Formats: sequence, structure tokens, C-alpha cells
Amino acid sequence: MDKTLIQQAAQKIKIAGRLISFTGAGISVESGIPPFRGPDGLWSRYDPQVLDLSYFQRYPDKSWRIIKEIFYDFFGKAQPNPAHQALAQLEAAGVMHGVITQNIDNLHQEAGSRDVIEFHGTSRRLSCLSCHQTWEFQPEMLASLPPACPRCGGLLKPDFIFFSEGIPPLAYQRSLTETQLADIWLVIGTTGEIMPASMLPIEAQRNGALIIEVNLRPSNYTNTITDIFLQGKASEVLSALAEAVLHP
Ligand SMILES: [Zn+2]
Repeated sequence: MDKTLIQQAAQKIKIAGRLISFTGAGISVESGIPPFRGPDGLWSRYDPQVLDLSYFQRYPDKSWRIIKEIFYDFFGKAQPNPAHQALAQLEAAGVMHGVITQNIDNLHQEAGSRDVIEFHGTSRRLSCLSCHQTWEFQPEMLASLPPACPRCGGLLKPDFIFFSEGIPPLAYQRSLTETQLADIWLVIGTTGEIMPASMLPIEAQRNGALIIEVNLRPSNYTNTITDIFLQGKASEVLSALAEAVLHP
């Protein structure tokens, strides 16, 4: 971790008009949530077709067994790490406006972040495929599978997007607005491979935002749009950055 670069980034953040963070799977790895892709990713162990909407509707029972195991039994045990906490501190101090996240794990909220734009939806809500009512997730909803809508008996689906689904419209709109409003984008734990999320920092940079990137390894962004690359573990870099901004 380069202390001079942390100081440089902290100086920029202190004079920022509007700072937005944009997070991906990399910020939750230290909370024990493995990424989906790659050799150790979840899709090397599970068949991703359970998140294909037509497969899910055809085999809700089989799909839900796997979805429950991954997203509720396993993800449900994860706790926010110092990277999530540092972002919540920056928001509470009025330094950061909010977080746009590609993650569906609710860890930003659990760390205390208040304005979280969930670009891919969330596992903490279920939505009814028949009447479209959404329900706050409660563990007892999964007591028998597949879960049924308390109102109409329809099939409930996690309220995060499956492979063929579009981005939730409000989250999409708010994120695009931030590509115009925010003058600093703090891009964390995302390598820029998943469309259309990957376009957001590019659009922000095109609109004049400064891009500060935090990643373990260089990404698609590093040599193209990134102004300051803070290489290292998200927890270490963000703790140091929050410290340099809030308690210099
Ligand atoms: Zn319903």
C-alpha cells in the first residue's frame, strides 16, 4: 500500500464536491463471500442455470435449494469488514454521498451505510412473480421450498437480478445521474467486466469525474480511466484512506 498515493487521494476527497463509491465483489471477499467467476468462484461449484429465469420457473424447487444454500445459508453468515465500515464512516461524516453496489449481500447496510443504490438488486427482499409484491426476507419464508407469496400464493424469487433480467430501473436511473453529479468516483473491488455496471465509471470519467480505484490487482480501468490507483486489500486501503480524510 502506497502511503503517498493514499495522501494524494485523501486530499482530492477532502475538496470533492460529491463523492460516490462504486463497489463490486472484491469488497466482500474479505467477509468470506467468494466471487462468482474465476477458478475458485461459486460457479465452479454450482450450476449457474439456477439463476436463469426460465429454468427457475420450470424447476423452482431444485433452483431454490441451491439458491438458499448459496445466498441465504452461506451469504447470510457474512459480516461487514473494515472496508464496508470505512465507507459507512465517510458517509456519516458527510464526506461521501453514497454507495452504488453491484453486490446483493446487504453488507453495506449492515455496516451502517444509509444511501445504497443496489444496481443488481438485493437478496434481502423476495418478489412475487405473479402479483409483483415484494417482501422483506425472513428466514422462516424458506422453511419450505419453494417459498410462496403470502398474498397470492405465487412463486417468490430473490429480488436480485437473474441472468436474463434488466437492471432495476430506479437503481439504474440514480446511478446514471451520479455519473453526471459526482466529481469523484471511488471504484472498489470491481474489475469492470460485467455490463452494464462496468460502463458507469467510464461514463463518469467521460463527464469529468476523477477516478480513484482500489483493487488487489490492476483491472480494465487501471490503465484506461483511473487517475489514482490504490493497490491492495480493500479493508486496508479504505481504512487508511478514511483515516487520512477524517483524522489527518
Ligand atoms: Zn403474489
